[in-house]
Amino acid sequence: MFRESPIIRWRNYSDRYKLRGYKCTKCSATYFEYKGMCPCGNLDFTEIDFSGRGKIAAFTQIHGGPEAFENKTPYCVAVIDLVEGARIEAQVMDCKYEDLKIGTEVEAVFRKFYSSGEKGVIHYGTKFVPKF
Ligand SMILES: [Zn+2]
Repeated sequence: MFRESPIIRWRNYSDRYKLRGYKCTKCSATYFEYKGMCPCGNLDFTEIDFSGRGKIAAFTQIHGGPEAFENKTPYCVAVIDLVEGARIEAQVMDCKYEDLKIGTEVEAVFRKFYSSGEKGVIHYGTKFVPKF
């Protein structure tokens, strides 16, 4: 289950909710997660807000998900190449697995991830939907 502290969760909100990443100031390579050092050797990055548009690079269907998602199986998860160049892994929804292909264009949407605790606190984040 998700046992992340509220402080860590708060620090990650901008990445989860704004689809924010990092751009190398030397070679302009983009990353969804902070790398510390770009393969070009540069250590300096600027933040970048991604458009949320991209194409599927790889995908699979999950039949045995973690506890918070076990009643949502099967669902699709994909590696997505964003138009800005960064690569992200995310759930692809509102589609059938059979309809997805490598190269399918997708766009980010803000959706419910799961609910937790006795009060059923709802956690939201970025998922993707295909643009058929
Ligand atoms: Zn670089």
